[in-house]
Amino acid sequence: MVIPLPEDARPDDPRWAVAYQELAHGLVMAGAKAKLVERFTHMAHRQVSQLYIALRGTTPASGPTMPTSPRFFAQRARKSSEVWVIQCAIFLTYYEHMSRITPMPLHRGWLLLASFNSYLALTTKSEENSPVKRLDINQAYALLTYSGFLDANAGAALLRKQCPICLIKYPVLAKHQGSPQSCPLCVMKATHRRLATQARSAAERRFSRSAQK
Ligand SMILES: [Zn+2]
Repeated sequence: MVIPLPEDARPDDPRWAVAYQELAHGLVMAGAKAKLVERFTHMAHRQVSQLYIALRGTTPASGPTMPTSPRFFAQRARKSSEVWVIQCAIFLTYYEHMSRITPMPLHRGWLLLASFNSYLALTTKSEENSPVKRLDINQAYALLTYSGFLDANAGAALLRKQCPICLIKYPVLAKHQGSPQSCPLCVMKATHRRLATQARSAAERRFSRSAQK
């Protein structure tokens, strides 16, 4: 069992040195970009690169840690991308649960890693036989940042809305004009129902045609 890292634990405090080292290892193994590891562990870029090479035999991926727009996590560009918004909703729920495991405020990097690992553990099974794309840790971090790390007073670009029917909390754009951002799970269920009805009536038509012959 990994001990939760408190928010006010300093990286240069010898009592937390091992916890920070575990955090760095975990982030590297999860594929976090170098900038992310540096931000949460206060390690130098050179140290992060060395850790990457030691643990994974490769240098860390470079580039920015954030996609340019919060729309990436909340808006359905295509009809099939409801599953993507649901993935974001699942991850945020894990983060929320994890941040409440103790009344003491926890380190955001630790929370990110712990909730991301739980999210992966839960969603691994379904991935084997489905094409559902899961968040990677860099996307999970960006999602949290756009969500103000679920701080209600953060003035975040992404908020969560609870569906009154299925009760999931899903990300929506705080500043959004146009049609309401409907629940991705309910939209998916409605699509499945429609497809099932279409398939049933097509089968019935085929059956009645063959019965007439
Ligand atoms: Zn719903």
